[in-house]
Amino acid sequence: MRGEEPALVEALKVRALPEGSCGKLLEFLRLYRDAVQSVVDRIWGFDEGLSKKRLHRLFYSDLVSMGFRAHHAKEVYLYAESLVGSARGSGGGRPVLRRLSARIDKYDYRLDLDSMVLTLKLHSNYEVRLKLVTSRERVEKFRGWSNYELVVKYDKGEFWVSIYFKRSVKTVEPRTVMSIDLNFDNVTLAVFTLNGRPVKLKRLKTPHRKVLTQRIWIERIQGRYSRSWRYIRSVRRAVERHGERIRNISWDYAHKLGDLVAELALKHRSAVVLEDLEKLRENGKRGRRFNKRLGLWFYRRIQFCVEYEAMERGLEVVKINPRGTSSKCPRCGGKLVEDGYRVLRCRKCGFAGDRDVIATVNLYRKYVSKHPRCGVPGVAPNAPKPDEAPSGMRGKRNEAMTIPTYMNLYGN
Ligand SMILES: [Zn+2]
Repeated sequence: MRGEEPALVEALKVRALPEGSCGKLLEFLRLYRDAVQSVVDRIWGFDEGLSKKRLHRLFYSDLVSMGFRAHHAKEVYLYAESLVGSARGSGGGRPVLRRLSARIDKYDYRLDLDSMVLTLKLHSNYEVRLKLVTSRERVEKFRGWSNYELVVKYDKGEFWVSIYFKRSVKTVEPRTVMSIDLNFDNVTLAVFTLNGRPVKLKRLKTPHRKVLTQRIWIERIQGRYSRSWRYIRSVRRAVERHGERIRNISWDYAHKLGDLVAELALKHRSAVVLEDLEKLRENGKRGRRFNKRLGLWFYRRIQFCVEYEAMERGLEVVKINPRGTSSKCPRCGGKLVEDGYRVLRCRKCGFAGDRDVIATVNLYRKYVSKHPRCGVPGVAPNAPKPDEAPSGMRGKRNEAMTIPTYMNLYGN
């Protein structure tokens, strides 16, 4: 069937206490940081990104002669390259590293979850044992997962490790398809059977307007004190406070939504279909549905949580290029034009419908055309008829009635 099993990745971040002296570990972290910095300094002069092969040729033997193990060396130059890449991408200057942190490959550590002891292999064949300071329950979750990488950090006198765990998930064979349309002020989701019958429709509000208010507030302060806001303590504090509020609201919402959507998808055994937001940028027309001031990262975060929660439940998640999903008639393929608030109308066949619902229908259709195992290829889902009341969404009536935000298909 499919090539690769989907995998779930999660990091466990814990404080770690070195057994005995921490001198060698600190020495390693400093050496590592300075090595990354020197690689950064050297590749900063190149005009373009370097291939893994080239990086290896340029830096491997130098790094090994400094006392690094083979995989340390690899992590050092890859990390340096990624730092330079993202600095270039964001138009920043040459990265300067201050923090002590090192990424360590699975070949250079041993993790014993029973004794909660982590052994790190350092430079020049030194080893250090670290006791993980955390509760058993937190660790217990990862039994049976594999771990493949970790990051060790030194911050304000304490060592922290983030261990990356991975497990493959057993997939649920989809019986329905749930397509999700993300907008500035709502998320619309629709569940279809594999032969195109709509089963459920749900619209959820987003807190984005609230977040935008905070955002505007920040911009106003920054505008008023355009040069000085960073240096006036009270102003900087206020900006930070609002920034934190934005982060809290958005993470909180994203987690809740991800959980709710994934539970619903599991109940219906749905394949989850999302818009590919990367493609959206290429298409260059996100303007109307998404608020640019919030940034695309905001919408990506929501998708990230939906995707994560769905995958954790073994559901298939597919991203579809959203091109045309809000401009094509789901009945005849003609061009849709705006016809009042949120309503789109087809010039060719007269079909009219809610903008967001149309998008979910079109996403579903794109998914089906790419995954012909779902139903009969080429069979269009029953495009909802304009005169159909919400109860016209067939399916278990009771179930539909329990949804508080059960939407009105064609009203406002
Ligand atoms: Zn039409």
